[in-house]
Amino acid sequence: MDFNPTKEQEMIRSMAQKFTENEIAPVINKFEEEHKFPSEIIKKLAELGFMGMNIKEEYGGFPAGTVAYSLALTEIARASASVAVTMSVTNMVAEVIQEFGKEEIKKKYLPPLCSGEYLAGAFCLTEPNAGSDAGAIQTKADKVDGGYILNGNKIFITSAEVAGIFVVWAVTDRSKGKKGISAFLVPAGTKGLIVGKKEEKMGQCASPTNEVALMDCFVPDDHLLGNEGDGYKIALMELAGGRIGIASLSLGVGYAAIDYAKNFAKERIQFGKPIAELQAIQFMLSDCYTELDAAKMLVLRAAFLKEKGLPYTKEGSMAKLYASEVANKVCIKAVQILGGYGYSKEYPVERFLRDIKVTTIYEGTSEVQRMVIAKEIIK
Ligand SMILES: Cc1cc2nc3c(=O)[nH]c(=O)nc-3n(C[C@H](O)[C@H](O)[C@H](O)COP(=O)(O)OP(=O)(O)OC[C@H]3O[C@@H](n4cnc5c(N)ncnc54)[C@H](O)[C@@H]3O)c2cc1C
Repeated sequence: MDFNPTKEQEMIRSMAQKFTENEIAPVINKFEEEHKFPSEIIKKLAELGFMGMNIKEEYGGFPAGTVAYSLALTEIARASASVAVTMSVTNMVAEVIQEFGKEEIKKKYLPPLCSGEYLAGAFCLTEPNAGSDAGAIQTKADKVDGGYILNGNKIFITSAEVAGIFVVWAVTDRSKGKKGISAFLVPAGTKGLIVGKKEEKMGQCASPTNEVALMDCFVPDDHLLGNEGDGYKIALMELAGGRIGIASLSLGVGYAAIDYAKNFAKERIQFGKPIAELQAIQFMLSDCYTELDAAKMLVLRAAFLKEKGLPYTKEGSMAKLYASEVANKVCIKAVQILGGYGYSKEYPVERFLRDIKVTTIYEGTSEVQRMVIAKEIIK
């Protein structure tokens, strides 16, 4: 057993770390405060290859593997969960296209997605009445000559207002239940694909989240991903992989928060000595680093299994469940260690706490992860 990353994985991690320190950290607060999407950062990230990390070179990708992808995402999330989630969802969309798209479709849409010509990909599954219960979606796709007509409403769609390409789930045959759901690729600008209201959120404010309406939106036959009825399977498969991304992101935010709190504790003097010398503070730091390191092991195990082509559904959900819950706890402790300063917007831990909350909600809530894990354990 080897706990060390390979030379290539370490090189990619270090590249992500340098990019984060030099290009994201110095400017990201302004984007967060103004709720603005950092287009230039995303383009540069794509130039480095980070938008297609599981995509073959022939489609413009940078197939560095899931472990390197996880390490890179964690580094990026240290400065910005907004940038990291954009990267994570775009990589998911690229993977769906590579896995289930027809050859011509892959050649057409993957290079602009990986290169940054498209700023992002959007993953359109959730609806007003179908969140955890994704099989209950109502958006429908009616077969017509040469394609399908899509009608319905999606909500909470990450990057919708900046995305170049959308994967949209819709019902092709209601009588078949989940087996009647299909997945379609819809390029931005397609008539009838309407990006609507932007959510006002607690955190991750540089990552736009929008409603998306489909109103008599025509999609040609070759934009169906996989076969009719494969949609639910595609969603579950891709969400399993996506969870490794959100788990990696959670680690980055958690480590950033507790590193900041540790350094603060070494400087902050109360009762004549640094608070880092108080056992109460030391125990908080010890617990936070221990649990984050445990979460990291789970995340890297899931990434390793996925990279090797081994089953990882249970391990991906365990990683997402544990890493997101631990990172939430760590961010609360980081605020506590800073005292009143932790509650002030002048210090970064306040944002880390707001940014981390959604990690126990999106791509399957913690309750949904427990359901997935239980199903895998008792099957
Ligand atoms: C910022 C943000 C970005 C997002 N980005 C995307 C995106 O890009 N694409 C996309 O498709 N979706 C996206 N989502 C949607 C997200 O995946 C859903 O919000 C999430 O899956 C939960 O669904 P819901 O909000 O409808 O909650 P619900 O499903 O209504 O759940 C409400 C509560 O009930 C619990 N619950 C539900 N069912 C069960 C059960 N069977 N057992 C126990 N507890 C249960 C949940 O865990 C939760 O605590 C995003 C959401 C947010 C907030």
